[in-house]
Amino acid sequence: MKNYGIMIHGGAGTMSKAKMTKWKTEAYRQALKRAYSIGYQNLHKGGGAMDAVLEAVVVLENSSLFNAGKGSVFTHEGDHEMDAAIMEGKTLQAGAVAGVKYVKNPVCLADVVMKKSKHVLVSGEKALEFAKEQGLEIESKEYFYEEVRHKQWQKALNAGKVSLDHDEEESAKYGTVGAVALDKHGNLAAATSTGGMVNKKYGRIGDSSLIGSGTYANNETCAISCTGHGEYYIRAVVAHDISARMLYKEQSLQEASEEVIMRVLPAMGGRGGMIGIDHEGNMVMPFNTKGMYRGFKNAKNEEFVGIFKE
Ligand code: ASP
Repeated sequence: MKNYGIMIHGGAGTMSKAKMTKWKTEAYRQALKRAYSIGYQNLHKGGGAMDAVLEAVVVLENSSLFNAGKGSVFTHEGDHEMDAAIMEGKTLQAGAVAGVKYVKNPVCLADVVMKKSKHVLVSGEKALEFAKEQGLEIESKEYFYEEVRHKQWQKALNAGKVSLDHDEEESAKYGTVGAVALDKHGNLAAATSTGGMVNKKYGRIGDSSLIGSGTYANNETCAISCTGHGEYYIRAVVAHDISARMLYKEQSLQEASEEVIMRVLPAMGGRGGMIGIDHEGNMVMPFNTKGMYRGFKNAKNEEFVGIFKE
């Protein structure tokens, strides 16, 4: 049997178990399951990894539970500026968007950038123009408004802080989202989407949209989607570093990802996690925070949803 599978994440951070009611936990679990199930069905029928990760991330972007698409955090100026990327392991083609407003599904725009433009990374107002030109769904500012995010922003604003969405313990919502997949044809793909950090300034761009930092896929090694404090992920070029360790040092995905997430990043002060799948279908989901929303389903029909360390 050809190995295949999909993994997803909904962000990493300091999540308080005590503040997660049974109802809230269940809502997250259901949303995560819905996301990987839709991608999995596609893979099971012989569909491609690119389509599977795209579909899974769209489900998470459309859920207001996560910090991506609807539910994105507020910037310092009170806007929602979103970053997203997608990469195909077979061709090493990629598309990405940074600081884009009003686009319902930034990951779809990243996909269109890859397929329909001559560029890899586009940003801001011109990226929005391109989205309109390509007929993508555009929403009003109100669509992205979430009461809980507004409160979280006000708090960060008053404290003069820029924070990871998931570190706001009083917040009912967490997380950047991402998906990685291996299809039956041996192709890998990765996608990530985020509203970034709460109260970010100056058009700040995180790791999610940067190929090699927060998102990377290469059929020779693995597909990776990261979540955490983006500045550190950019400086450590996390996703590509893991792939490079596999390629040049012949480390397994497990060894490479443990080293980067549990040693390299913490030594710099970087917090977060990642999901990764290699070309044989081996899966990893390390994180150096208290928790990470995550899930997977593989060719053996095994599935998992987790929030805390378990
Ligand atoms: N990595 C994202 C960023 O820095 C944030 C996150 O993963 O929650 O924009």
